Amino acid sequence: MKQLLRELPPVHELQKSDKFQKLVDTFDLSEKYVTKIIQEVLSSIRSQLLNGNNPLKHDQSQSIVESIWLRVENELHSFQKERITRVINGTGTVLHTNLGRSRLSKDAIEHVKVVAESYSNLEYNISMGKRGSRHDIIEDLLKEVTGAEAAMVVNNNAAAVFLILRALAKEKEVIVSRGQLVEIGGSFRVSAIMEESGANLVEVGTTNKTHLYDYEQAITEETGMILKVHTSNFKTIGFTKSVSTDELVHLSNQHEQLVFYEDLGSGSLYDFQQSGIGDEPVVKQVIESGVDLVSFSGDKLLGGPQAGIIVGKESLIKVLKKHQLARVLRVDKMTLAGLETTLRAYINEQAAEKLPTVRDIIKPIEQIRELVEYFIAKLQTVTSVYTCEILEDTSQVGGGTMPGVEVSTFVVAIKHQQSSAQELANQLRKGSTPVITRVKENNVLIDFRTITKEETDDLVQAFTSIGV
Ligand SMILES: *Cc1c(COP(=O)(O)O)cnc(C)c1O
Repeated sequence: MKQLLRELPPVHELQKSDKFQKLVDTFDLSEKYVTKIIQEVLSSIRSQLLNGNNPLKHDQSQSIVESIWLRVENELHSFQKERITRVINGTGTVLHTNLGRSRLSKDAIEHVKVVAESYSNLEYNISMGKRGSRHDIIEDLLKEVTGAEAAMVVNNNAAAVFLILRALAKEKEVIVSRGQLVEIGGSFRVSAIMEESGANLVEVGTTNKTHLYDYEQAITEETGMILKVHTSNFKTIGFTKSVSTDELVHLSNQHEQLVFYEDLGSGSLYDFQQSGIGDEPVVKQVIESGVDLVSFSGDKLLGGPQAGIIVGKESLIKVLKKHQLARVLRVDKMTLAGLETTLRAYINEQAAEKLPTVRDIIKPIEQIRELVEYFIAKLQTVTSVYTCEILEDTSQVGGGTMPGVEVSTFVVAIKHQQSSAQELANQLRKGSTPVITRVKENNVLIDFRTITKEETDDLVQAFTSIGV
């Protein structure tokens, strides 16, 4: 070990070699950064040697210097690998929370790009030639698609819930049904957000049943708000009862001081029910029923960028816009650009064609089958190590929306001649374009609901690069 320690070359010697310059050029990194990695590699080898381990013992065919360069190169490779990167979603779950929820439409991406590249009128009123407000930029479009009096956009729906409670119900009582005290995605709990906001939660009813009289009896002088929360990611079945939006509107209208706010979660602008999928109300109906405020996500069923959209009574939205937190939770120009173009697809009645989220949720099953067949034919012309079978299955909408709703689909079940399904899935995941799949009964399943025709070519590529 002592001998090896002595043989470790000093950093400046390695820096002088051609290999150093070559790595700098190949990885397009600074000399400073490559030097830092060399130092780290050397110090790691040194400390292992001092601890009596020889990390170089498996590299006997190589010289010490070669082993060091190999380690440096591996480190540089993993550093240069893109961190947030494109993946192919083969799970069929359209709003996959782990995979970035909604994809933006081509038009929306184009708009984001233009606004990101240039200066913009984000806070400038062009016709008046003076300072403007980002809150005004797309408010008219939001009013158009929801029928509300006023609207604003914040960072996400969790932020919307927080802002509304803080600005309108701080130190007041907020009545919520016990059946709606949900936790979403492990990090958003209605009860916790409520506590952070300074509003006082008043739980009414039971897990499975809440009646109108439960709300009525809970109203006191201290009550500031009735909150209805979309149960999003779960469904209670059997002996259940919840109070409808209409009934709560009626109740809150009898009390001057009460705000009735509905956290819709997803907030659909497209009538999926008409396509036979789920029973999600569209935001317009909820506003029509007379709710004071409604909030929902931009990147769930709506199919836009991450955002929290608040719509409702003008007098209330005005208070929200003026609150200090609105500044804290505000959105960026790229979000507004993406959202604007997404909303226009609804106004032009082109959501089903233009927005990937809507398109994929209602994707006709024949179209999915065609894609599966196209993929299999293509794969089989380039390799014969896989066996493919077409199976009927179901896709989930995902994103904590439409729990229990399963949409019919076709999947391809793939087996590799030698590898197990789990090994194959792992390799697909670790490829240069990661492919996320499901494993079931020693098959890798790929659901083509969430894969486009263009992606099919990359998918074939992913299979051939591991299957030879
Ligand atoms: C998803 C969801 C949220 C959080 O929305 P984000 O946009 O993810 O912050 C809040 N409330 C409900 C009911 C939801 O379904």
